[in-house]
Amino acid sequence: MTAEIDIKSNLSKVYANIERAAKRSGRDVNDITLIAVSKTKPVSMIKECIECGTVIFGENKAQEMASKIAELHDDNLNWHFIGHLQRNKVKYVVGNACMIHSVDSVRLAEAINAEAVKKGVICDILIEVNIACEDTKFGIKAEDIYDFIDEIRNFPNIKIRGLMTIAPYVDNPEDNRVHFRHLRNLLVDINSKNIDNVYMDVLSMGMTGDYEVAVEEGATIVRVGTGIFGDRIYV
Ligand SMILES: *Cc1c(COP(=O)(O)O)cnc(C)c1O
Repeated sequence: MTAEIDIKSNLSKVYANIERAAKRSGRDVNDITLIAVSKTKPVSMIKECIECGTVIFGENKAQEMASKIAELHDDNLNWHFIGHLQRNKVKYVVGNACMIHSVDSVRLAEAINAEAVKKGVICDILIEVNIACEDTKFGIKAEDIYDFIDEIRNFPNIKIRGLMTIAPYVDNPEDNRVHFRHLRNLLVDINSKNIDNVYMDVLSMGMTGDYEVAVEEGATIVRVGTGIFGDRIYV
């Protein structure tokens, strides 16, 4: 299976698509970061990416990420934690991930802050927003975002860097444009309020099916798994 997947060519296609989408929308391609979502994929495939110059990876399971980091043992790599995080797993993530994309409760933020204090680090986080109000998704509802920010903004060892969303699964990526635009407007709105301790410049949105639309709508981070590594096989 693995041998059939041409990671090098997949990566260059994704980078080219991002570049085209940036051009179409008058954006600087350097303002967009690609996270290679390596969840469920073996270290051997991650190494192939590294050989192609890609050093930013995303994982959604705390222990899987920690063991891959230990195995690869490479300080040049950046790891983003993008999955739902339980409080008892925070210890595996804080200090390992350069950013946690999935903060969706005050208790989780509190646990991340406590672990960051313990380790003497500042933890960059994103607030996960359930932008389409789907029952099946984690995340804060857009209407609750200001209360949420108020509750977490004074934790000394977390830095709120922006917003993240997992858009609905759709056949036509254009259907998600409205959600990406909504998330961006939310970020602009938050910044316009000049809340103490809060300035956000990260918009993590767009996956294999819709990252080009997300870039057109202002994504600064796109998270692409299948488009680089091929389909995931869950056993
Ligand atoms: C798995 C995952 C991705 C990547 O999804 P693809 O459709 O394979 O690109 C992106 N973001 C999150 C939060 C994920 O869990």
